[in-house]
Amino acid sequence: MKKLLLFCFLNLVSPGLRAQTTARLKTLDWVLTQLHQRAMFNGVVLYAERGKVLYQKELGIANHTTGEALKPTSAFNLASVSKQFIAMMIMQLGKKGRLRYDDKVRTYLPTFPYDSITIRHLLTHTSGLPEYFELAQQYTGPLDTLTNAGMLQLLADHKPALLFRPGDRWTYCNTGYVLLGSIIETVSGTSVRALFDQQIAQPLKLRNTSVYHLKSGPPPANRVYGFQRQNGRLIPDDLIRLDGVIGDGNVYSSAEDLLKWDQSLYTNKLVKASTLREAFTPVRLNNGTTYPYGFGWAIDRTGTVLDHTGSWVGFNTLIVRNTAKRQTLILLSNSHEATGRQIAEAIMAGEPYRVPTTQLISNASVIDGSGLKARRASVRIRDNRIWEIGDLTPFPNETVTDAKGLTLAPGFIDSHSHHDWGLAKAPDALAVVSQGITTLVVGQDGGGQPVDSLRALLKRQPIAVNLATYTGHAALRTGTMGPRSLYRTAKADELAKMKDLLRAELDKGSLGLSTGLEYESAFFSSRDEVLQLAQVAADAGGRYISHIRSEDIALDDAIDEIIQIGRVTKMPVQISHLKIALRNQWGQSPYLLARLERARAEGVNITADCYPYDYWMSTLRVLFPKRDYTNLASAEFAVNQLFDPAQSVLVQFAANPSYAGKTVGEVARLRQRTNAQTLMDLVAEASAFSENAGGSGSVEGIMGKSMDEPDVVNLLSWPHTNIGSDGAMTGHPRGYGAFTRVLGRYVRDQKIMPLETAIYKMTGLTAEHLGFADRGLIAPGYLADLVLFDPATVSDNAAIGNNTALSSGIQLVWVAGQPVYRSGEATGNRPGVFIGRPIR
Ligand SMILES: [Zn+2]
Repeated sequence: MKKLLLFCFLNLVSPGLRAQTTARLKTLDWVLTQLHQRAMFNGVVLYAERGKVLYQKELGIANHTTGEALKPTSAFNLASVSKQFIAMMIMQLGKKGRLRYDDKVRTYLPTFPYDSITIRHLLTHTSGLPEYFELAQQYTGPLDTLTNAGMLQLLADHKPALLFRPGDRWTYCNTGYVLLGSIIETVSGTSVRALFDQQIAQPLKLRNTSVYHLKSGPPPANRVYGFQRQNGRLIPDDLIRLDGVIGDGNVYSSAEDLLKWDQSLYTNKLVKASTLREAFTPVRLNNGTTYPYGFGWAIDRTGTVLDHTGSWVGFNTLIVRNTAKRQTLILLSNSHEATGRQIAEAIMAGEPYRVPTTQLISNASVIDGSGLKARRASVRIRDNRIWEIGDLTPFPNETVTDAKGLTLAPGFIDSHSHHDWGLAKAPDALAVVSQGITTLVVGQDGGGQPVDSLRALLKRQPIAVNLATYTGHAALRTGTMGPRSLYRTAKADELAKMKDLLRAELDKGSLGLSTGLEYESAFFSSRDEVLQLAQVAADAGGRYISHIRSEDIALDDAIDEIIQIGRVTKMPVQISHLKIALRNQWGQSPYLLARLERARAEGVNITADCYPYDYWMSTLRVLFPKRDYTNLASAEFAVNQLFDPAQSVLVQFAANPSYAGKTVGEVARLRQRTNAQTLMDLVAEASAFSENAGGSGSVEGIMGKSMDEPDVVNLLSWPHTNIGSDGAMTGHPRGYGAFTRVLGRYVRDQKIMPLETAIYKMTGLTAEHLGFADRGLIAPGYLADLVLFDPATVSDNAAIGNNTALSSGIQLVWVAGQPVYRSGEATGNRPGVFIGRPIR
């Protein structure tokens, strides 16, 4: 009667189910074929219902050396899928009365150094034992093959602490199953391999199934070899020196044999159904709750779907048994790539999945960002990351970009940018992508926006490039002390509040503290105020970057301050836009760099960024280092030492907009006054205009010619200087041309350094200075932020008076694998993300 009912039930629902299964199998076949063509799956897959095979396929090779193809009988290392067989052997011994699950391990293995661990704890991963891998790494040599006896000896000798009291928790544990292997051998008096043949393989007629490890004797017939693909080449990834053990892995089997095994679990062939039931029951922990794992099987919510995966060296395996629907999915792969397994499982469970996409950039001169010499290679991108580099042939239907021998480099990282203020209106970020920049680091010079604002910007308006930020000192001061009382050092309570604000920003992903100590918003802060805030950044694992307190008359003192911060806090410190902006100090760059080298030798991690121009852009007020804007002597000092009035252009002057674009010298002639007097007058007029306008927004700006090119070249060349633009969407030409100017003017034309070194200073070195772990190199696993350019033609075109001209020679720029810039135009892709500080 019961049987009949079941039959009716199946007849009732099976047409729909069958259609669904057929559709899923069709998808599975198509997807696995695609994955195989893209080197993401090599293995066999089998699907059966009620023991009847509905789908079976072998894709790829059994042996990467001979190229022999996989067959239905190919025997794979099951890795952790082996555990269900070990559990079965324990159950068989239990049924014969040779052991009980609640016996202490010590009863069978007297040297086992833990008193309260039982066989049941081992079967269910509740023993609290740590994994044996580290123990073996630490205490055995590179030529020692680890055996079960050897592992037990390691436990006895070192007795590592348990992770928890046995039975309190569930933590996957290979050590437990190796111990089960030892218990089987002790109790049976024979090897696991021999007992396995006798108790499991022979009764079930499994012809391609046996135990095999480095100490076991010959491999099974049809043994397949594990491999991994590295940069387009197949290399062995098979048994290692830990594989002299048996218990946690090292049962070999084929898909066909595994189906027989699966079917036997519906019968009494190996043990009775009542015995098996316990293997398929969630383990009960000490506190009465259960965990969905039995004896070598994971169990789903309904209790009807049992599965296990295995991953070890070049093998990835899966068995899923839907015991209610009598469905079986088996997947065995001899590649370290687990993508096929994940997707196959999802497809057959009706869950969402995504097939990775790949693209190839072929025929490139790869400069990888590490400083190594250019090499001819192809680069394969998988989704948003670099996958392979080498001599690579395209997969079927793969998107290929022919680099035609041009230079492929990591996308440039601008460690000092103010471009964020224009991004909402210019989300394609043409100013920067046209220079090859893919990541902007903002929050510079003590300013910037809170992390939440930047994240909100990216959400509201996706942008083409990535953003990371420091937290600005002056922004903290303004938020705490108010915009009108910044001309003093902070009081204790204000400092405490700033520390809290900074801590909160660091928690949200800020890279660290930035200061702009030359600006009035921070100039009057004490060294102690800055040091205490810097310590907060250091305590969070952050960094310090600074527009130092003086770039001219008090440069020495300002350098001393930042070295001191690095020395006390021990965190990396970086000088922003390193320069010598005092005429009578021109030519002194070797001494400045020697001083920084001394600090480094002492252990201070001090670095710098630098832009490739001999003129800066700032306010007229920085030309009065003592902030005495009405002192004629100071104004005369400024025109003689701090800038060249004939070459320094007012870029903005709200009090008289007609001055914009004119040099200070030209304005002085118009007004028939001296340069010095004109400078004082302009500061006063701008200040009055600002007062009337309510004091918000900038009312004047100047591009000050104040550096000497030989110094610029030395500062750029210092091994610890990375390139930064200090640029914005408007103003100084550096916002549109800093990086291409280095590549054109300084590398190609003046040959101040090899191209590889310049690229390193724009990518790998910069990433190191920022603590970015997976950007700045062309290397497997790194984000696919890339730039393709022509070193023969690359150049900046932005100049004073034409400050937003795009660069030449940058062909193609990718961010996270998506092209964002192609031959002079934005593509409209906006894959930029916020890069938070990597938390240690
Ligand atoms: Zn600055």
